[in-house]
Amino acid sequence: MSGQSKLSFDGGWEYAPAPQDISHIQLEKKYGLFIDGDFVAPESGNYFETINPATEKPLAKVAAANGADVDKAVRAARKAFDGPWSKMSAADRGKYIYRIARMLQERSREFAVIESLDGGKPIRESRDIDIPLSAAHFFYYAGWADKLQYAFPGREAQALGVAGQIIPWNFPLLMAAWKIAPALACGNTVVLKPAETTPLTALKLAELVRDADLPPGVVNIVTGAGDTGTALVEHDDVNKIAFTGSTAVGRLIQQRLAGTAKKYTLELGGKAANIIFADAAIDQAVEGIVNGIFFNQGHVCCAGSRLLVQEAVADEVIQKLKDRMETLIVGDPLDKNTDIGAINSAAQHKRIDEYLKLGQEEGAEMYQSSRPVPASGYWCRPTLFTGVSQSNRIVQEEIFGPVLAIQTFRTMEEGVTKANNTPYGLSGGIWTDKGAKIFKMTRAIRAGVIWANTFNKFDPTSPFGGYKESGVGREGGLHGLSAYLSLEPRR
Ligand code: NAP
Ligand code: MG
Repeated sequence: MSGQSKLSFDGGWEYAPAPQDISHIQLEKKYGLFIDGDFVAPESGNYFETINPATEKPLAKVAAANGADVDKAVRAARKAFDGPWSKMSAADRGKYIYRIARMLQERSREFAVIESLDGGKPIRESRDIDIPLSAAHFFYYAGWADKLQYAFPGREAQALGVAGQIIPWNFPLLMAAWKIAPALACGNTVVLKPAETTPLTALKLAELVRDADLPPGVVNIVTGAGDTGTALVEHDDVNKIAFTGSTAVGRLIQQRLAGTAKKYTLELGGKAANIIFADAAIDQAVEGIVNGIFFNQGHVCCAGSRLLVQEAVADEVIQKLKDRMETLIVGDPLDKNTDIGAINSAAQHKRIDEYLKLGQEEGAEMYQSSRPVPASGYWCRPTLFTGVSQSNRIVQEEIFGPVLAIQTFRTMEEGVTKANNTPYGLSGGIWTDKGAKIFKMTRAIRAGVIWANTFNKFDPTSPFGGYKESGVGREGGLHGLSAYLSLEPRR
């Protein structure tokens, strides 16, 4: 398949395949549930397959946890919370989290390859973004473990207890790190449910947690589908639910939690706009748009899935974007030259295809790059739509694929109105040469994260989360700690 990623550019030169070596990875044929420090068989005896979306071939069998398994995991987490974990000094808890961070760095190559095999993302991204950032989250929160009383002056910072955590398939290990690291630093224990299509790096993390000698039950990983998540949300002995996923499921969870004492954070969908002013450095902005929507197949909640470009430079930007799209290599995620990997699952592939049809039915003009894609597996060429209107569903709804909807604007006010006119408010990007414009725009855009003259940059010290239908609460940074603590006034 790597042969498919050879390209002939106009100049006549081409990339030779640069396949990632995968001989060093270790995958079991079958994974149990990680409960109380050990891998155990599921009560039902049922397993499901996780596949490689680039080849459609199975990678491993994974246990399907039911209510009884979730109950077992929550009990193990409670026992660990009441026992060793809350009796240990905060500094010692921090040492365990540092150990996880260091071991993750040591095993980063294996984690990167498995992330790309299971989820379809290019190895360049899992190697340079997902895995290093995951380790960075553990490092960052390890440092907070024994400083909570300083982080919240005048408040008594106390762990909540058992945290139930449910994550999506777009950043499998990174989302696990975002959830587990602050929870442990605050003294909680966790039960984490990875997404059905990408359970493998969470299970490798379970192995790592075991090798790091964490007390049994502090981290439990239960694999399964949506009903496993529901069982976790509904369990009476869970004190906090942290969910990242779609707005539809987030809404269901919020309804289920209404009237309970459970604390929750919901990190949901987005429909971010990259806003390009005529005075922006255009080549840099085009690169930012490409990074914002095409890399990682557009499987990013904060993806720049809309482009708002000032009329005077619209033709130039669109032409440059099309030229750049022609150079993007769609193909084998394990080839180091690949820019756009495989769509995560058959279901997501179908969903994106439906939006491509819908966009054309709505009257927009679709443009796709002409590069070849492999014959088997799930792929989508980088795609853009022009001639869209604000009410079009491709402008309003999250597609979660490498699909960009382009609109123009004349004045700053019009840009702001259009940017804010979706149900979401997760992120945004401003491209301009003028600092004053950046400040005005960032105040006017209703989004949790706004980048200026860059896009999709993450750091564990920075809070992340959305307005409106993009969610409730913040993860990351100091804010991410308070989501896992009760903070009563100190007496
Ligand atoms: P999803 O369908 O909502 O699934 C997310 C997780 O919830 C998965 O583990 C899923 O299990 C589980 N789940 C499904 N139904 C459930 C239920 N009724 N109760 C409890 N858990 C349930 O979302 P997705 O399609 O996997 O992920 C894409 C979405 O995540 C996008 O909308 C994206 O914007 C959002 N996202 C948001 C952020 C953020 O920080 N705001 C970050 C990343 C992704 P299964 O995997 O088995 O279905
Ligand atoms: Mg998979």
